[in-house]
Amino acid sequence: MPNEESSTRDTRRTPRARRDIRERMSRAVLADWHTLDDQDIAIFSIRNPDGSSFPEFEVGQYTQLAFWDQSTSDPRPRQLSIASSPLDLSHLEFYVILVRDSLDDGSNTPGIFTGTLWKHKPGDEILYLPRPAGRFTLSRTDQPEVVCIATGTGLAPFVSMARAAWHRYKETGTIHRRLTIVHGVSYANQLGYRNELETMAADPDFGLSYIPTVSRPDRDASYTELVSRGRANDLVRLYFGEEMSGRVEPQFAGALLGDLQNRLTPESAAVYLCGNPDMIADAKPILAANGYETEGRESQVITEDYW
Ligand SMILES: Cc1cc2nc3c(=O)[nH]c(=O)nc-3n(C[C@H](O)[C@H](O)[C@H](O)COP(=O)(O)OP(=O)(O)OC[C@H]3O[C@@H](n4cnc5c(N)ncnc54)[C@H](O)[C@@H]3O)c2cc1C
Repeated sequence: MPNEESSTRDTRRTPRARRDIRERMSRAVLADWHTLDDQDIAIFSIRNPDGSSFPEFEVGQYTQLAFWDQSTSDPRPRQLSIASSPLDLSHLEFYVILVRDSLDDGSNTPGIFTGTLWKHKPGDEILYLPRPAGRFTLSRTDQPEVVCIATGTGLAPFVSMARAAWHRYKETGTIHRRLTIVHGVSYANQLGYRNELETMAADPDFGLSYIPTVSRPDRDASYTELVSRGRANDLVRLYFGEEMSGRVEPQFAGALLGDLQNRLTPESAAVYLCGNPDMIADAKPILAANGYETEGRESQVITEDYW
């Protein structure tokens, strides 16, 4: 007769070894790679080894990337928003920051995926999940104004939106809706895609308003008055007459506040927030208090937290 302990052991199912998700991923190669002036921020693209196209995706979606030599302590792929346009599926482009986790002794350790990425070079193999995903898409709204607010690499999905709209505008001369892009970083040399977005913004018929802003202008040799001051969420606070939360008094550069006043109203705008969860958590209740539907199916405030 088995005792109680052994009978319990007999009926317990042996856990199946979890399959490594990387076995289900497709192989691509790292193609273009460049860092900004700030070497911890990179723009890179991947291509299929046989030159074939990537699966279709909607602007605002992400895919997942991994490496075989990523730490075995956490081999999971990481989600990265696609910055390239879905109208060109020959490659996928990404905008990424090398994450550094601070340690108690003042040193830091690189993030598992991004630390590995920074060790690779063009031509190396990278894995991707061939099922773009995510609901941070423009199909969530019918509003004619889309106000996009990003911190850091949270700009990526908005670059994809702007590129697709720009392509269509150049082909047909029409725009479906107007984009406003607020991009918050610490220093002006971290403003990835600045030239490209300024070129689009310089065409008045395209209607893109680009509002770069830096949160440390007084310690920033690359800062000029063409750039707004303060954190992205503090520009939102300033716009709605709320007190600032950061250390730098927010201020819109040039005529950009006037631009926003024409665009950011609950009747006409959907607001997309992407990147640092603190920025999103700060901006969302302010929008709610100012007449924006922020919850449920009718929500016109659409968010993507990066962590
Ligand atoms: C839907 C979605 C889309 C994303 N798209 C992008 C993107 O386009 N570009 C991008 O750089 N990241 C993006 N991320 C974050 C990305 O998935 C990884 O978390 C990031 O690359 C760090 O991975 P890691 O393995 O190097 O860090 P880990 O070793 O996993 O450490 C994770 C920690 O890093 C911090 N962290 C994560 N992302 C950032 C960040 N962007 N800035 C500062 N700190 C961060 C957080 O504290 C997090 O807890 C996205 C996340 C989600 C959920």
